[in-house]
Formats: sequence, structure tokens, C-alpha cells
Amino acid sequence: MLAILRKIAQAVSQQPDLTSALETFVSLVKESMKTQCCSVYFADYNQENFVLMATKGLNPKAVGKFRIGFTEGLVGLVAQREEPLNLAFAQDHPRFIYSPDVDEDNYNAFLAVPIVHQKKILGVIVIQQNLARVFSQDEESFLITLSAQLASQLAHAEISEILKQDEKAHQTTCLKGASGAPGIAIGEAFVVMPKLSFANFELKKTDLAVSSHIEQIKLFRQAVAATRNEFSTMSQELSDTLPNEALAVFQVYQQLLDAKSLGQKVEKEIKQGWCAKSALKRVIESLVGQFMAMQDNYIKERAIDVQDIGIRVLHHIVDTECALKTYPDSMILVTDVLTPSMLAQVPKDKLMGIISISGGSNSHASILTKALGIPAVWGVTDLPLLQVDGKEMIIDAYASKVYISPSNILKQEYSQFKKQEGILHDQFESEYQLDACTLDGEHIQLLLNAGLEVSTELTNAHFCDGVGLYRTEAWFMQKSQFPTQLEQENWYREVLTSYHPSPVIMRTLDIGGDKVLSYFDVEEENPFLGWRGIRFSLDHPELFLEQLKAMLKANAGLGNLKILLPMVTNVTEVEEAQRLLKQAYFELEDEWADQFYKIEQPEVGVMLEVPSSIFLLPEWAKKVDFCSVGSNDLTQYLLAVDRTNSQVSELFDPYHPSVLRALNQIAQNCMQHELPFSLCGELAADPEGAILLVAMGYRSLSMNPSSINKVKWVLRRLKITDMEDLLKSCLGQSSAIEVHRIIRNFIILNGLSQLLYKVKEA
Ligand code: PEP
Ligand code: MG
Repeated sequence: MLAILRKIAQAVSQQPDLTSALETFVSLVKESMKTQCCSVYFADYNQENFVLMATKGLNPKAVGKFRIGFTEGLVGLVAQREEPLNLAFAQDHPRFIYSPDVDEDNYNAFLAVPIVHQKKILGVIVIQQNLARVFSQDEESFLITLSAQLASQLAHAEISEILKQDEKAHQTTCLKGASGAPGIAIGEAFVVMPKLSFANFELKKTDLAVSSHIEQIKLFRQAVAATRNEFSTMSQELSDTLPNEALAVFQVYQQLLDAKSLGQKVEKEIKQGWCAKSALKRVIESLVGQFMAMQDNYIKERAIDVQDIGIRVLHHIVDTECALKTYPDSMILVTDVLTPSMLAQVPKDKLMGIISISGGSNSHASILTKALGIPAVWGVTDLPLLQVDGKEMIIDAYASKVYISPSNILKQEYSQFKKQEGILHDQFESEYQLDACTLDGEHIQLLLNAGLEVSTELTNAHFCDGVGLYRTEAWFMQKSQFPTQLEQENWYREVLTSYHPSPVIMRTLDIGGDKVLSYFDVEEENPFLGWRGIRFSLDHPELFLEQLKAMLKANAGLGNLKILLPMVTNVTEVEEAQRLLKQAYFELEDEWADQFYKIEQPEVGVMLEVPSSIFLLPEWAKKVDFCSVGSNDLTQYLLAVDRTNSQVSELFDPYHPSVLRALNQIAQNCMQHELPFSLCGELAADPEGAILLVAMGYRSLSMNPSSINKVKWVLRRLKITDMEDLLKSCLGQSSAIEVHRIIRNFIILNGLSQLLYKVKEA
């Protein structure tokens, strides 16, 4: 069964458009399930009915024409119930509607399953048979599996089709994701491929002109030549270290690149109208399929080699294409998974917005876009990456929407909105020098989360009361090896000096999870539950001591350093870290005996981001000088939602009553134990979050640079007593939706509704 499933999935993925994908699908399902009829209906949400999209067995003339209402017939019933329907005599069912146009009089047996994609009914698959029988459990579960497997593929193909049709009709396509940094961006899509895979590529035909075939063949041949050179160089470089038998593998690779093996097939596909990348994809996927179908395990494994060679050729094709591309002036970066290094490469002055197909809006890459103040939408899973390259786009990161080829009216509306956004932004900025003081006179310390965007942050020093979180790992991630103690010392001193005399809370290395070092490979099944933060540092005291010493030395003569330990889960970790800090201190004290500036012992704090740490507050009060709540990870671990997974990003909500109650309890316990506390997660950067936190008793909030002025502006217009009333009612709610609604009402009642301004639904 698995082999049939694979065969169908692969055949469908090989098709250039939705129509042929669905035609292939119904033919293969009919054939493999040995039935007489297979049809696919798609939901048309505008007309609220299902349309017959493809069939093998019903009247082919009904395709695209025959429609049945959402609440009508057996198809409607399957969708309404969201479950399969398996009938021996379909016509006896009370919901059966006789439709002369489709010619189904000869069929009795009926099995239908819904196609569900992201909780939404995309359509219904129906198989029918003359013989009146109930389909077996096996057949039913096969069709369910097939539908679940192909739902995203079909959704993808459907969006591609909609995009093509909308384009022809000059209409706008709108897709939804999850918001990262808020804001509006208008610009031209610039697609960047992080990790190439054939799955990433939409099949694309070239225009029919022979000249474009010649161009594509040239592109392919150049890529093959470059791959050949690559293999020759590799083989020469390895000739001293590898035995001849192992080097023979390069000869096999070269042979696979020969015209007879690969070239002729690809060029034939190009001549049939496929672009070089699509032609290569079609040939490689078909070869891989043939190898995989072999009984012999050795031959089966060669499929990996074919795939690898294909990817290398693909890389060269893409590199040539990219070299010819220039960055548009107003660029919307569109990518499969945004990485910090990708962001580093693009010119910031042209970068208006970001769309990431996968990845969560709470990942570290997303936090980086927030720090840069670049509107971003994450998890736009159905976006056909290559099809949008060069297209005009609008990002509405307030509503988590992406518009492709927007109409002029929509562009005007968003340009107007952007102007108003600019005016509001200027209002926030006009108060940057004023104190973050509530209407009833309470000062709130607003600190900066820094470290992620090294180039712009140091200039922000005057905006804030210091640095509440300096993420040291981001700088480590830009290096090609662990930086030396001296390099670190120089860097930390530069940071401490820029903010001096304000405090800088430097967090020790917090790698792991989605923060990986290119020079230190760690493979884990569950990286967020694995070797992260303090766990890594304690397992590598030689690296940890280097970092601690560099921090202590950098602080000599300045004295504004505080050290923060990430991801602590138990007391022993903190004791061990403190022991190493003492060791670093005493060793340096000796070394620095003759120096003018003395080494000082800085304050040490813990991050409260793992649920267990919340229950250790009485212990922390005795052992450390302060604590800082990492609400990003605390939300992730309390709600068991991977912060980087777009599939579950809707569930990542720090306004969930459990998270709010935990944050409130932390504040209460810290006050009771007289332990200084602050919060440095993204919740503090959201004015709605900041209001609740202040009401809980947090008087120190640390946030990304682009949010400080906004949060300050809001807090200066509110009274703590009112915020406390709001908090009371929020803590009593049982869902995040209710909490959001109550806070929004509060904002409106307090005359701050401009914060909630939204563009009308397009
Ligand atoms: C947090 O978890 O809230 C935090 C501030 O740390 P990071 O986002 O770097 O994991
Ligand atoms: Mg964290």
C-alpha cells in the first residue's frame, strides 16, 4: 500500500497544473483501488458549493460545471460531518440527490472521504462501483490515508492555480500566516532558497519560443560542467587520503552526469517546454523512483546518489540565475525558512518585509525581524515559492495576511494606512526622551533586548534604561569558530561601554533549540528539550570559563555588567555555574593583581523560562541577585508548543490564562521573597502585554529596540489602578480569546484605539 501511496503522490507532484494533477490522481486511484469510478470535488467557498474537478467514471463533460451545495447530497454530507461515508446502495440514502448530468445511474457502492487541510474542508474524494457492497475497512482507511497525505499537495496546487487565474483576471490573491513583527510592507517579492530540494520547486513551463529552450539548455549544460569540475576538485583533494576504490565513486558520479544518463533526458524535457530546473526535477524524481522500486538494496541506495547529484546541478542552475538577479528597491524577502544569515546578506535599506513559508512567529529569526522592525508573516505554508518571484506584494502583518499582485485600490488603501502608521510612529518617537512614567506616577524601567542585530543596536543606547537581555549567542553564531577569550573581551567591553553607566545584563551562551553554531554540529530529536543554554555551558566548562573570564575582564573599570544564566531547571545547575564563576574570578584576580582596574564580582541572575524554575523561587531568592522571566520559552514549555513550528503557532499564545497566571504568581512570589525581577520575552514588547505585566507588579521590562517608544507612549497614558482592574478580569478568563477581547476594549475605553487600527477587509 505504501508503494502505491508513494507512486500516486509522486505522479501528482510531477504535474504542471491542478487539472492534470487531479486527472492523474483520479486515474491512479481508480486503477489502484480497482473501482469503476473516482471523482474529486473541490469546495468553492465563494459560491458555497462543491464543484466536480476531475473524474474517471462520471460524465467528463460535467467537470468544472457540475456543482452541489455545501449542505446538499452525499458529498455535502461528508463535508458537513467531516468523516467518511461508506454505502452499498447510495441511491437509497435520504441525502442522495439524483443528478442526470453526471451519469452515475450505474453505480451503487459509494465511498467518500473529506480532504481536510489546516482544519478546512478542501474537497471530497468519491469512489463508486456498480456492485452493491460496502467497501472494506482496508479500502476505507487507504482512501483516508491518501486524502490526508495529499491534502497539502492538492491545496498547494489549488493555490498555484488560483494565483495563475487571478493573475490572468488581474485579481489579488490573499494568503494567511502568523504575524511576526507588526507592520505593513509594500514591495516586490524576492525569493531566496535556503536549502535546495526538488520538493521546493514548482514545475514551470517556459514560453514556447525555441530561443528560450536554447537558453535553458545552455543553463543546464553550464550547471553540469560546473558540477563536473566540482567532482574533479573533490576527487583531487581527497586523492591523498582516500583509497582508489573509494575515489571510484567520483567516476560513477561523472558517468551519471553523462549525456546518456542524465543530459539527454533533461534536454528532451526542456524541448517539451519545461524550464531547466523543472526538467531536472522531473528526470531526477523519475530516476529516484525507479531506483527505489528495485528489490536490490544496493541499487536502492543509489537513489541517494542520484538525488545528491541532481541537487548539485540544481545549485549551479540557481546560482547562475541568482547572479543575474538584482535586489528590487522595495524588496519583500520570500523564503522557505528564514535564517539570520540570510537576513545578514540582503541590503537592509531595500528590505521592506519578510515572508517565511515555514517557521514560527516566535522563533529567534522572527525575534530578529522584530528587533529590526521589519514586518513579517510566518508559516504561509501554501505559498508557491517560485511562482511569486518578482510579483508585487503587500504584507499586512497586523492581520497576518499576504496579498499577491494587489489591485490598485488595495495598494492605495495600504499606502494610506502606511502613512498613518508613520504618523503614529512619529508620535511614539517624539516622547523617546521622556520618562516611562504612568499617569499615577509609577516609573517603569524599560530596557533593551540586544545582541541579535549587532550593527544598529549600539546607537540605541540613549533610548533606554540599559540592557535587560544581551543575547551573546547571536554573536557566536556569526563566527566560523568559537571566538577567543580576547575577542570576546573586546566585544563585551564595546557593548558595556556603549551603555555605561546603565546596567547591561549579559546572558551566557544560550545555544541549542533553533540557535545553532555552524561550527558545532549537534543532532537532536527534540532540540528544545535537549542540549540548550546552561546545560551546554556546564558540559563544556572550558568554553564557559572563557566566556565568564572575558565578561569579567571586559567589566573591569566599568562595573555595569550583570550575568544571567539561561534555561536553568534546578539548583545544582546554578550552584555549579556560580562555582565556575568564582573560579574565573579568583584566577583573574591573581592574574590582574598589578592592573589598575580590579576585577569585580557581578550580580548573577537566573532566567525563569522552564516551568520548574517557577517553583524554586524561594531557593533563587537565597542564591541569586535577580531573575528575569523569559516568557517566550516559558510559554513554549507551559503550553507544550514548539515556538518554531508554524503548524502549531496559533496555539503559542502568552495571553493564555495559564501563562498569565504563572507570570502573576512569579511576580507575587518575587515580591514576597524580595527578589528583584523583570521580564525579557516578547510579551513585554507588545503594549497589551506590557499593560498586564505592569499591573502584575513588574517594574522592569526588557524588549526589542523597535518597541520601546511605543510601550513607553502607552504606559505614559494609563493609570496603574486601571491596569490592575483590567488584570483582575483577565486572570479570571478561561481562554486567550476572551483575554484579548477584554484588553482591546480597555485600550479603546482609554482613548488609545489608534493602536488597534486595521485596514478594512479587502
Ligand atoms: C525567552 O525565552 O523569553 C527569552 C527572552 O530568551 P530567548 O527568546 O532568547 O530564548
Ligand atoms: Mg529563552
